[in-house]
Amino acid sequence: MEFIKLTSNYYLEIKKDNKDIELALDITNIKLKNIKKNKIFMLKIDFNTFIKDDYKKILKHLIFIKSMLPIDKIGIEKDSKKVVGYLINYDENNQSHNDFISAIRAIFYNNRYDRYNYIYDTVCDYLDSFFYGKNLCDFKNNKCGEKRNTNSTIGCCRHFKIKLLGPLTKLVPCEHLKEDYTCGAKCISCKLFTCDYLRKKGVIFKIKDILLLDVFFNPIQKYFIKYMVFTTKEKILKRLMIF
Ligand code: SF4
Ligand code: SF4
Repeated sequence: MEFIKLTSNYYLEIKKDNKDIELALDITNIKLKNIKKNKIFMLKIDFNTFIKDDYKKILKHLIFIKSMLPIDKIGIEKDSKKVVGYLINYDENNQSHNDFISAIRAIFYNNRYDRYNYIYDTVCDYLDSFFYGKNLCDFKNNKCGEKRNTNSTIGCCRHFKIKLLGPLTKLVPCEHLKEDYTCGAKCISCKLFTCDYLRKKGVIFKIKDILLLDVFFNPIQKYFIKYMVFTTKEKILKRLMIF
């Protein structure tokens, strides 16, 4: 038997077919009354029965259903694991399938902070891996493509700061920029930012295209995720918890 770990002791079992899954409820059509009738909550996730455009609707409904469940109704014990669902027609090389499973994993966190923390790290890892080894910003002699004809050697890691005396502002390096030119803040808003130079190359990240951000956050939270540049992960998570 093959399993995919969700969180704590929750797992999904990968199945080759529909055999021996009688108690599982089709994730595309879960009803609370059926969970009550079954006396147990098990999911059937057959990737051949829904398409990517359905993901958001299905996940939103699952968030609601999960919030209504008593903890002892969830899953069945197998090999010392709590199996909460079966995956059918799952392709481990299919990024959309894996994104959907990441969202299921987020749902099975039992508190909001841990869920947001998981989503935050997962999206940051995705964005980092997108850029890794590609030099998309075309840094040459420490100058990026966008700032090629300026004196800036630190890309867009600078911002205006109000001077202590007088109304004028000055451009200063971001306080989170480390000596080795890496970021000490893990700022998701900065990672999502793409300047004109990158946009011209077709590199652009929209929150609505990133499933974990699109499904789990409301419009105000999405606004902060997009615009809280120059800010630490801890501060951003704290702000997300308020709304
Ligand atoms: S995102 Fe744009 S401005 Fe920022 S480092 Fe890359 S090329 Fe430069
Ligand atoms: S917080 Fe943003 S601007 Fe500051 S170092 Fe990190 S990526 Fe650069």
